[in-house]
Amino acid sequence: MKKFEKNPKKSTYDIIIIGGAIMGSSAAWFLSQNPDFDGTILVVEKDQNYEFCSTAHTTSCMRQQFSTKLNVQISQFAADFVLNLQEYMGDKIKVPKLTINSFGYMYLANDNDYAKNLKENQKIQIEAGAATELLSPMEIKSRYPFYNVEDIVLGSINLVNEGYWDSMTVFNCWRNKAQENGVEYIENEVVDIIKNKSGDRVLCIKLASGELITGENFINASGPRAAITSKMAGIDIPVEPRKRFSWIFKAEEPLDRQLPLTIDPSGIHVRENGGGTYQAGGHGVEDPAVGFDDFTMDYDLWEEKVWPILAHRIPNFESIKLIHDWAGHYSMNTLDQNAIVGPHGEVQNFIFLNGFSGHGTQQAPAMGRAVAELLIYGEYQTLNMKPFHFDRIEKEKPIIENAII
Ligand SMILES: Cc1cc2nc3c(=O)[nH]c(=O)nc-3n(C[C@H](O)[C@H](O)[C@H](O)COP(=O)(O)OP(=O)(O)OC[C@H]3O[C@@H](n4cnc5c(N)ncnc54)[C@H](O)[C@@H]3O)c2cc1C
Repeated sequence: MKKFEKNPKKSTYDIIIIGGAIMGSSAAWFLSQNPDFDGTILVVEKDQNYEFCSTAHTTSCMRQQFSTKLNVQISQFAADFVLNLQEYMGDKIKVPKLTINSFGYMYLANDNDYAKNLKENQKIQIEAGAATELLSPMEIKSRYPFYNVEDIVLGSINLVNEGYWDSMTVFNCWRNKAQENGVEYIENEVVDIIKNKSGDRVLCIKLASGELITGENFINASGPRAAITSKMAGIDIPVEPRKRFSWIFKAEEPLDRQLPLTIDPSGIHVRENGGGTYQAGGHGVEDPAVGFDDFTMDYDLWEEKVWPILAHRIPNFESIKLIHDWAGHYSMNTLDQNAIVGPHGEVQNFIFLNGFSGHGTQQAPAMGRAVAELLIYGEYQTLNMKPFHFDRIEKEKPIIENAII
């Protein structure tokens, strides 16, 4: 990666992207590699070490088990992009070949209402081309003998292009290639946004170092801080930082086959991590918005809630050793936990790339591509992202997506 300078080289750019982690870098790459775009791009990133961004804390898995067709299609493009990364990026030397470790997501239902939900979701997924299978408790047990299924009524799993992928490598490729294409990344912070007198266009950003930089279009890719950035442009969005904990542990007796990313009915999830280690994730009983710099761990949560749940579901996990843990932030869209993408209705040159909650890494390929299409051609050319536009926020009309983790 080319080290970021502090100050921009110019005082005006065609596109200014606020936040340079996975979303900002996806947009930067999709724009800069498009032969129909010859504009200038500035990415402002407040921390070039990316220490606290969501991207650095992800579980890095993708799934096709959503309940809306569009979310399934977005993840299908992610799978296609990851599996054909070298071809998409036009480089078989510096860009590695990636795979997806398709251990699948195993959703477990312990009551009939949730089982009905899984059945309905499966229909939508199959229609969209996913390979989701519904499993009875006996079928679950025969495929994965390590589960305790005594309280389970149904399972749902998809073993095609669903599981772990190396999102950090894709992010690095996007950023490096965007820089090679002439995109300028600086380490600085956007502290204010200035609009024209009538308030329908953003004119410029103000940097922490004091400069005012003008632009034609502005993309808000600032993750959990998205609401602060939008507020600078006078727009409220319902996005807030919510803490999500991750725990890596080693089992004294590892499982005899790969563990799917298992979503226990309690909401706790756990997946294969390789070498006899596993990664669990979850959040506290209370789930408030937290401070942007609050990454403290809740150790009681592991001891009192998470470990007992894991040991109940997979008795091998009674004897485990915790080896690593961390807290990260979801950029939680509190209206419907789905993306807010596209232009603002009035401030047309302010583009959202926000609110991805727990599924932003897998949405980064489709969302970066969508924003690039919008800015270059004035319309979506592949997947139509209009259902994710800001107008639903104003009208308080949530997208109903049942499969949220
Ligand atoms: C524990 C955990 C597990 C997850 N697991 C998954 C998963 O398995 N699959 C999945 O698809 N998704 C997952 N996610 C969600 C995913 O990580 C995020 O949706 C995604 O990384 C969001 O990327 P982003 O670029 O929008 O935000 P971020 O990665 O947070 O990046 C925002 C960037 O903006 C910068 N910034 C903010 N404000 C300013 C400013 N004013 N000026 C300049 N720069 C600014 C920040 O420094 C930051 O680098 C998980 C998230 C967490 C926390």
